[in-house]
Amino acid sequence: MSSSPCPLGLRTLVVDDDPVMLAIISALLEDAGFESFETAHDGSAALERLADHPFELMICDLNMPGMDGIRLMSRLASLAALPAVVLLSGEDPRVLDVSRQFAEAKGLTILGVLPKPVDHDALMAVLRLYRPAAPQPAASASPAVLTHDAIRKGIAGTALQLAYQPKVELARGAIVGAEALLRWQDPDLGRVAAPDVIRAAENADLIDALTLAVLRRAVGDRGSLLRAGVDINLAFNVSMHNLHNLSIIDQMSAVVAGAGDRAQSYTLEVTETHLMDKPAHVLEALIRSRLQGFKVAIDDYGTGAATMQFLMQLPSTELKIDRSFVGAAPLSEHGRVLFQSAIDLGRRLDLTVTAEGVETETEARLALELGCHLGQGYFYGRPMSLDELIRSASATN
Ligand code: C2E
Ligand code: MG
Ligand code: MG
Repeated sequence: MSSSPCPLGLRTLVVDDDPVMLAIISALLEDAGFESFETAHDGSAALERLADHPFELMICDLNMPGMDGIRLMSRLASLAALPAVVLLSGEDPRVLDVSRQFAEAKGLTILGVLPKPVDHDALMAVLRLYRPAAPQPAASASPAVLTHDAIRKGIAGTALQLAYQPKVELARGAIVGAEALLRWQDPDLGRVAAPDVIRAAENADLIDALTLAVLRRAVGDRGSLLRAGVDINLAFNVSMHNLHNLSIIDQMSAVVAGAGDRAQSYTLEVTETHLMDKPAHVLEALIRSRLQGFKVAIDDYGTGAATMQFLMQLPSTELKIDRSFVGAAPLSEHGRVLFQSAIDLGRRLDLTVTAEGVETETEARLALELGCHLGQGYFYGRPMSLDELIRSASATN
C-alpha cells in the first residue's frame, strides 16, 4: 500500500441514505483532518451537488433507495470533472467486485471498494491511493464555443458529416443495418465531438434542425446504398429535446416520404438515460413515431433509470444493451448474469436485442451465446464512410 499522506484538502462528497453511516464517515474524515467535505442522502441529491461544483473525491454507498450507487455512477460519467470514487456496501464481496467493474467500464477511477461497517484504517488506506486526474486533452472544443451561427452554417455547409457503424446479425455475420453517427469538422475549431455538438445545438435551440439535417443526409445515403444493391436499415439518434416538439415526427416522416422511401427502413435511437424525465411526453412521441412506421430503439440500456413497467409500455422495437454490460460479461460470473438478464428482458418484450460496443471476440461470442440478435462495436467495424459501408455490407450479404 502506498505511503503517501492522506489528501486532506480534497473536496469530498459522502453519499449514503443512512444518517448514522453519514455521521460515522463524517467523524472519520474529521478525525483524519479532512477540511472540506459535504454529504448527500441519495443519488439525486449527490448529482445536484456535483452539477453545482466539482468534487475530487466521492465516498458512495451502493445500496440506496431511489437512485442507487450504480445508477449514480452511470449518470456521473457524463460530468466534465469526475471525482475519484470509494464504494461502500454491505453486499457480498462479489457484488462489490462487479460494481467496481461497472464503474470502471464507465471511465471512473475507483480507489477502493469497502465493506460496511467502514473501518478507519481501511478507509484511510484507500484514500491514500488518490492521485490527481491528468488534465483532459483539449480534443473537443467547449460546446459554448460552437455558436448558433456556426451550427446553422455547419448544417447547411460541410461541417456536418456522418459516419456509419454496422449492425451485424450475429447468427449469420451479415450487416443488416448501420447507425448514422454525427461527425463535425468545423472550419475554425476543427473536429468537435458528437456529444458537444448535440449539447451546443440544444442550447442554441437548433437541435430539431440538426436532427432533421442528419436524417436528410441519411435518407440520401440510403438511396446510394439501394442503388448499390444494399437494402439495410439506417438508425439515427434522437435527442430528448427533439421529443419536446412533437411536430418533428411529422417532419421526419415527410423527409423520408419525400425521397420515396419507407419509414420502416429507419430506426430512431432514444437513450435510456433521459426517458424518465418526461415519461408521458416520451411515450406520446414514440407512439407517434411508430404510427408513422419508424422503428424505435432504446439506446444505452442499463445506464438510465427507466423502470421495467415503463419499458414495457414503450412501443419500441429494439433494445441496445450498453457497453458496460457487454464489457463486464466476460470478466465475472456476476457480469455475465447481469448481461444475461438484460438480454432476457429484451427478448421477453419481443424486441430485437443488440449488444453495443462489442470490442473483442470473447464479447462477440458471449453476445451470441446469451441470446443477442445483433452486435455493434469496434470488433465488427468502426464508424466508417458511406463508401466503406457499401463495400462491407455488399461483402457480407
Ligand atoms: P451512441 O448512440 O450510443 O453511439 C455509439 C457510440 O459508441 C459512438 O460514439 C461510437 O463511436 C461508440 N462506439 C462504437 N463501438 C464502440 C466500441 O466497440 N467501443 C467503444 N468504447 N465505443 C464504441 P460517438 O460517435 O462518439 O457518439 C457518441 C454519442 O453521441 C452517441 O452514442 C449518441 O448518443 C450521440 N450522437 C451521435 N450522433 C448523434 C446525432 O446525430 N444526434 C444525436 N442526438 N446524438 C448523436
Ligand atoms: Mg445510438
Ligand atoms: Mg449507444
